[in-house]
Amino acid sequence: MTVSLFDEEVRFCPSCDGYVRYLRSPTDCYCVECGGVAALLSPTDLKKVRGTSGKSKSTSDGPGRWNDAGDMPVRGFSG
Ligand SMILES: [Zn+2]
Repeated sequence: MTVSLFDEEVRFCPSCDGYVRYLRSPTDCYCVECGGVAALLSPTDLKKVRGTSGKSKSTSDGPGRWNDAGDMPVRGFSG
């Protein structure tokens, strides 16, 4: 019998905002559509996984918080 592991053949791409096929890399997985780093789960599914076990924290759920897109505040002050 062949088990369909659809969830393992795709990953979530924040740029494409959906599950896409990805290219494997020793360190990361990249979206075949845009070349961005693809995450294992989408933020929505990630909540489900975390929510199933233990109490669900009602913290601020900012989109892309899990994604290391480098959205750090840049200080333009000099001196
Ligand atoms: Zn993509």
